[in-house]
Amino acid sequence: MLCYLNAFVSILLMTFRALPLCVLFPFLFLATYPSAADEKVRWFKGNTHTHSLWSDGNDFPEMIAKFYKDNNYHFLVLSDHNILSRGEKWMNVGAIEKRRRALGVPTLKKYISTFGKDWVELRGEDKKQEVRLRTLEEIRPKFEGGGDFIFIEGEEITNNFRGSPVHTNGMNLKELIVPKKGTSLRDTMRNNIIAVKEQSTRLKKPMLSHLNHPNFGWSIKAEDIAHVLEEKFFEVYNGHPSINHLGDANRPGDEKIWDIANTIRLATLKSDPLYGISSDDSHYYHGGDVKPGRGWVMVQSSSLDEDAIVRSMDSGNFYGSSGVHFKNLFRNQKKGTLEFEIEADNDAEYVTKIIGTRKGNENNPDLVGETLATIKGNMVKYKLKDNEWYFRATVTSSKDHPRPSFNGQKEQAWTQPIWDPSAVNKN
Ligand SMILES: [Zn+2]
Ligand SMILES: [Zn+2]
Repeated sequence: MLCYLNAFVSILLMTFRALPLCVLFPFLFLATYPSAADEKVRWFKGNTHTHSLWSDGNDFPEMIAKFYKDNNYHFLVLSDHNILSRGEKWMNVGAIEKRRRALGVPTLKKYISTFGKDWVELRGEDKKQEVRLRTLEEIRPKFEGGGDFIFIEGEEITNNFRGSPVHTNGMNLKELIVPKKGTSLRDTMRNNIIAVKEQSTRLKKPMLSHLNHPNFGWSIKAEDIAHVLEEKFFEVYNGHPSINHLGDANRPGDEKIWDIANTIRLATLKSDPLYGISSDDSHYYHGGDVKPGRGWVMVQSSSLDEDAIVRSMDSGNFYGSSGVHFKNLFRNQKKGTLEFEIEADNDAEYVTKIIGTRKGNENNPDLVGETLATIKGNMVKYKLKDNEWYFRATVTSSKDHPRPSFNGQKEQAWTQPIWDPSAVNKN
C-alpha cells in the first residue's frame, strides 16, 4: 500500500514539476502577466546574442545579466561560442583581468563587490589564482522568479566553411550542439539549422536558430541565405562594430541583404521570406567597442517563459529595435496590412521607410528593396499592393543612438515583412 502511495505521490510531483508555475498557481501570475487563455499579450524586450567569460566575453555571466535586467530587458540568451554555461569551469584571474584591457574597475573586484565574497569561489594564490564560473542553473535564482526576467539557454554555434565564418545562434537549447561541417558554405549553414531542428523535435521543445552577422568576414551572401530554405531568421542588425553592418561600396549592408534574399525567396524560389533579428553580440562590459545595449528584439507574447517567447518569434510576432519602440503594432499577413504607432520620445522625430520589391523588378538590382513610401510622424499604415512581392518598414529616429556601433547611428526599428501569400508554393 505504502508502495502505491509512494508511486502516486511521485507521479503527482513529476506532473507538477512538468507544469509551469503559472499553470499551478495562476493567482500568483494573473496580476503581472495575463494567461494565454484570455489572449492578452504584452511586449517583452530581449537580447538573443551575448558573450561572457564562458567563451570570449570579458565579464561574469551574473554581471552581464545584471546589466540587462537593470536596463529593463525581460529575457537574455547567453550565447557563448560552442559552449553552454554548464559543468565545472575555472579561469585564471590574471587572464580575466587581461581581457578587461585596463578599462574600468578590476573585473574580480567588481564581481565581489556586486555579489559578495561568499558567492565567489576562488582557489590558488597569486598568479595561479583561479575563479569558478557559475553555471546558468546556479545563477538563475538570482534573477528569475520575480516574473520580470528570464534566461533562455543558448549557444552561438560557431563554424566555418574553408575559413568563411558561419555563426548560428541556437535558442532554447537543452543540449550542446557541436558545429556541423558541410560540403559547401550553404550546406554548412543548413546542417547547423537542421541540428537545432533535430534537437527541438527529439526533445519536443520549441527552439529557434538565427544566422548571425552575414557580412562578418564578408562570408555569407544574400543569395546564400535565400537558397538555404531552412533559414528563417537572420540578424538585420548586430551591435558588433566589426561585422560590416553597412556593407561597403561594392557589397550590400545587412538591410539590403534582407531585401535581396526576400526577393529571391518570393520571386524565384516561391518560399517564405526571412524574419529580421536585432541583437547586441556584446563581448566587452568594462568599456570599449563591443558593448551591450545596442540592439534587441521586442516580442509579443502572452507570457514570459522560454517556450512562449520562442513560439512568438517563430510566428513573426516580434520586431527588431535599436531604440525605437511601438506603442501599437498590428501586422496582419492575411490582410496584407501593417499599422503602428511609434512611442513618442521627447522631441524625437520619426521617418518610416516602407521598403519592398515590385513584381517585375526582381532582376533589377537598383529596384530590389526600393523605398515604396516614406511616412513622417508617429502613425504609420500601409497595405500590400497587388504588384508588390512584399514590404517591410524601417523606422529611423532623429535621435542619436546612445551606444553607437557605427558613426552617425540613429535609433531605429525594423518590422517583419508582409508578403503576397500566393507567391509562396506551400507544396
Ligand atoms: Zn559570431
Ligand atoms: Zn557572437
